Amino acid sequence: MPEGRKDDRRRFYRGGRRNRTETKVEVKPKLPELPAVDCPYCKKPILDVSSSLADPSTGAAVHFDCALARLAEYERLGPEEHIVYIGRGAFAVVEFLDKSHTRFSIKRSLPWEKEGEKYDWRLQLQKRMGI
Ligand SMILES: [Zn+2]
Repeated sequence: MPEGRKDDRRRFYRGGRRNRTETKVEVKPKLPELPAVDCPYCKKPILDVSSSLADPSTGAAVHFDCALARLAEYERLGPEEHIVYIGRGAFAVVEFLDKSHTRFSIKRSLPWEKEGEKYDWRLQLQKRMGI
């Protein structure tokens, strides 16, 4: 019976597809839950860990704004000087050269995090984001 054989083949094919979908679900790794962390500076929970910085002495995650505020406490800024984040865990004091704040010169850099330091909470976050 040639017709029956055709049906068998179709059924087999469908089974194969279903199996592939099941495998895909199983492969998806279960990510560890990130522990809820409180900022050691303001004691409030850090809701967006991806934008937080590490405290240079303890390595704990702190709010970006708290790090900025702490830097601002120690820096004597001129009238046109501002602290901006320049990336890689570092800030800089810049002086804007125009009113629209598009051009600026870096007056001095303010390293915040230890350079090259791999913080545990950030590694976990990067793993979670698939970086
Ligand atoms: Zn904070």
